[in-house]
Amino acid sequence: MGKKLIAVCLSVVLLFTAFLGCARNKSSLPELPLHDRVSEITLNPVDERADCDTLVFSCIDYRFAFANQEFINETLGLKNNYNHISVPGSIYNLVNPKTQELIIGKVTNLVNFHLIKHVVIIAHKDCGAYGGSSAFGSKFAEQEYLSADLRKARDILIEKYPILKVDLYLEELTPSGVVFEKV
Ligand SMILES: [Zn+2]
Repeated sequence: MGKKLIAVCLSVVLLFTAFLGCARNKSSLPELPLHDRVSEITLNPVDERADCDTLVFSCIDYRFAFANQEFINETLGLKNNYNHISVPGSIYNLVNPKTQELIIGKVTNLVNFHLIKHVVIIAHKDCGAYGGSSAFGSKFAEQEYLSADLRKARDILIEKYPILKVDLYLEELTPSGVVFEKV
């Protein structure tokens, strides 16, 4: 009987301690303003389309992020109507047998579930995955090497999915901006 009473008292003490702990934790957290907790982006009706059959594949390099969005939306006219896979090194992962399967697996998902028919691949010069521009020795060598890898990447995708239309672009950061060249 005595042991039971001690156990009950102990439980009450533990519960009280837990309550105090919770209360202290709660009061130590600053109350966030609503806009920091919940965000909402209003979509244009055109952004809600369900007919997206384009996949863009690019590198994650932050230097090209804004220009890529402008190029895809405005120059290519895709206006937010595309799927996007962004991986450090982009095509390097597709032509490299060690990472190729992972990328093809992701493309396969999109081809099957999003009915992708058109792929836009954007590679860029001075890509860290290749060791930067200096790894090529000359601008000409870099241009040739990356163009060849872009074509290889296209061949790999078309061999797997002959229905795909694949467009290739090579971009370069210049003093006046980002220049896109169709390969
Ligand atoms: Zn890169």
